[in-house]
Amino acid sequence: MHEVSLVNSIFRSIELEFPKQDVERVRGIFMRVGLLSNVEPVLMQSAFAAVIETESAFRQATLHVEVLPILVHCAECDKTSLVENYKFVCACGKPSNNIVQGTELLIHKVEFALDDD
Ligand SMILES: [Zn+2]
Repeated sequence: MHEVSLVNSIFRSIELEFPKQDVERVRGIFMRVGLLSNVEPVLMQSAFAAVIETESAFRQATLHVEVLPILVHCAECDKTSLVENYKFVCACGKPSNNIVQGTELLIHKVEFALDDD
């Protein structure tokens, strides 16, 4: 399952970024995933639940996944439009594959417990 390795890489990058005593106080991990990133939030949550069974440092953490819609920018009319049903067409009618949002796969926030409780 692709989500399990994704959860593992999230944990490894948090461990690289923060000292060990802070890692143990992580309570919330906030991710933003674009609709084109092939990440299924429900599968992310079950992978997360499975991985924290063996990763005691993250046992008190909760994963939050925000899905970002796909946006394309149109060179013809210089507007950004929401892509619905994977139709890459601007509101003006011109096709556009200039994706400006929707491929994200990132941790945008990590929350920590305030004290050692
Ligand atoms: Zn347009």
